[in-house]
Amino acid sequence: MIIIKSKNELLNFLRDNPNDYAFVPTMGALHSGHLSLLDTAKKYSKHIIVSIFVNPTQFSVNEDFSKYPRTIENDIALLENAGVKIVYIPTVECIYPVQSKLWLDIPSLTNVLCGKSRPHFFNGVMTVLLKFFLQINPKFVILGEKDYQQFLVVREMVNSIGLNIQVVPSPIIRNANGLALSSRNVYLKSLERAEEINKILYTMARGLRNNHNFEDILSNTKTMLLNNIDEIDYLEVRNNEDLELYCNGRKVMDCRIFFAGKVDGVRLIDNVAINF
Ligand code: AMP
Repeated sequence: MIIIKSKNELLNFLRDNPNDYAFVPTMGALHSGHLSLLDTAKKYSKHIIVSIFVNPTQFSVNEDFSKYPRTIENDIALLENAGVKIVYIPTVECIYPVQSKLWLDIPSLTNVLCGKSRPHFFNGVMTVLLKFFLQINPKFVILGEKDYQQFLVVREMVNSIGLNIQVVPSPIIRNANGLALSSRNVYLKSLERAEEINKILYTMARGLRNNHNFEDILSNTKTMLLNNIDEIDYLEVRNNEDLELYCNGRKVMDCRIFFAGKVDGVRLIDNVAINF
C-alpha cells in the first residue's frame, strides 16, 4: 500500500501512474459503511484512491472538528485488508496552504436540510472536494447515500463546472437493527434510542406509499421520534433529484424522507426512499 502525504507526492505518483481512478473521499474513523464504498468503487475501476482528511472548512467554530474521531492506524489496517493500494492522507496545511476565501453554493440544494442548520457545511464539502478533484483528476467519485444531500450537491457541482467525473452513489449500510453506520455513533451512550429512528422512518415511508394523509403522517412521525430522541433538526419529504419539498399532488414515489436530529447530544442524519 502506498500512503501519500502531500500534494507534490500525489502529483508525482499520478504522473507516473496515470489511470482512470475511482476516488473515495472520507474523513477516516472508518467503518463498514466506508468499506462498502470500496465495493462500489471496484465495479467502476480497479484503480482506487481513498483519501482520509478531516476537513476543517465543513465544521463551524462550535462544532466537533477537534473532537472528531481520528483512528488513523486502524483506518490504514482496514484499507490494507480491503486491498486498497493508494491512500491519500494530506495535512490541513497541504490542502489549505492559504485560507480559502472561496464560497461555493448551489442555493436550491444547499440552502435546505443540512445546509439550513449548518450554512458553512456544503461550502466546506465542495471546496475540499474541488481541490481533491483538481489534484487527483479521478474518472469516478463514490459517495454514500447516507449523505444523500451531499451526493446531490457534489453531482451538481461537477455538472455545473463541467468536470469529467462520474459521481456514483453507494447504498446506506446499516447495523443489524437498521441504524445507519456513522463515525459519530461511537459517541452514543447506547444505540437503542438511535435505532428507533430508521424504524420510524420506514413506517412513515410505508404510510406515504399507501397514500395516508401527509400532514397526519408527518405529525405522528415527529411525535414518535420525539418519544425516542432528544431533538429533531428536520423531518422533511423532498424530491430525489432536486430536493424540492413534497406537496400533495406531486409524485410521492419520487421522494425521500430526510431526517436530522440529536440523540445524547450527537447529531445523526438518515434518509429513506419512499419507493424503497
Ligand atoms: P465521512 O467519513 O463521514 O465523511 O463519509 C465518507 C463517505 O462515506 C461519504 O460518502 C459518506 O456518505 C459515506 N458513508 C458514511 N457512512 C455510510 C454508511 N453508513 N453507508 C454508506 N456510506 C456511508
